[in-house]
Amino acid sequence: MVEEAVSTQPYDVVIIGGGPAGLTAGMYAARANLRTLAIAGETSVSQVTITDIVENYPGIPGGINGFELAERFKTQAVEFGLQTASGDVTGLVRKDWGGLAGWEIAAGEARYGALSVVVATGATWRRLGIPSEERFIGRGVSFCATCDGPFYRNREVAVVGGGDTAIQEALFLTRFAKKVTVIHRRDRLRATGILQKRAFANDKIAFAWNSVVESIDGLDLVQAVRLRDVKTGQTRDLAVSGLFIFVGLTPNTAPFQGALALDAGGYIQVDANMQTSVPGVFACGDCTAKRFRQVVTACGDGATAAFSAQLHVEELKGEAY
Ligand code: NAP
Repeated sequence: MVEEAVSTQPYDVVIIGGGPAGLTAGMYAARANLRTLAIAGETSVSQVTITDIVENYPGIPGGINGFELAERFKTQAVEFGLQTASGDVTGLVRKDWGGLAGWEIAAGEARYGALSVVVATGATWRRLGIPSEERFIGRGVSFCATCDGPFYRNREVAVVGGGDTAIQEALFLTRFAKKVTVIHRRDRLRATGILQKRAFANDKIAFAWNSVVESIDGLDLVQAVRLRDVKTGQTRDLAVSGLFIFVGLTPNTAPFQGALALDAGGYIQVDANMQTSVPGVFACGDCTAKRFRQVVTACGDGATAAFSAQLHVEELKGEAY
């Protein structure tokens, strides 16, 4: 494993991101004998690393802890020669590398040269956007049940959201909390059937349907949330010590605005070969515009992106066959 602060020779492939998509791309590219670097974000973590259990990744009956799965991805990729670094990438600019058209990638003080780039920056939890949310982060408001769940032993907590994440994490929280109220803005869940079935069968889970959080209240720590019924407009207070917010994702694509074509939600537009709007730049995983965001689909995207990058580099070097 080598970290290179200023590259004098470009990598064949630089991958931006260290989650399942990026590490799979890294494994495939390194295994294809390409000089490959994966830059993991310094101030962000891959979502899978804070997932208690991933039970739908093929080949692992019984499931696996998300952090452990991510570590295994990394170990396997490094075994094939993937180099790794960490840093928050702020942008990429075109650069000529001795007649070969490539890129220079800025991450903090470091600069990395690349003949092709794979963007795998993932997405982060969306905020509710209500004023008291920021004030109570770390004081009862959380975006990570795996990290903070054990603090709420025998306490009452609430989860906001009706998707897979909210329901999966609500189920996880029942290991610690006395009661978990799922606050959802509609009267039915978006989550997949099996998770819904488990949640409805769990007597520690209650539902506040057609409800949104209007405010989060407490002195130093969260003590209650004020809910508003979206149909009647009526408000009521729900006493909780913790509020876990899982209302979807925002793609980590800010450094690529203006450089790559994004959709209205900020996700990177790619074709079936993970080609972005810019030749030589590929993207994969949760940062791309697609319908189904899973670890397994991120890995599939990563493999495809690496193969496309390989073809691009071979073409560039005149080594295509
Ligand atoms: P999601 O599927 O986008 O669901 C977000 C939920 O939050 C929805 O129920 C949505 O309500 C609600 N919501 C959005 N904005 C809100 C707001 N401002 N106030 C209140 N509620 C709001 O997000 P996710 O659950 O994080 O899942 C993201 C992706 O990861 C999905 O593709 C999911 O399938 C995948 N995932 C899969 C698994 C698994 O397979 N086990 C686990 C976790 C995540 P509406 O329903 O009304 O839109």
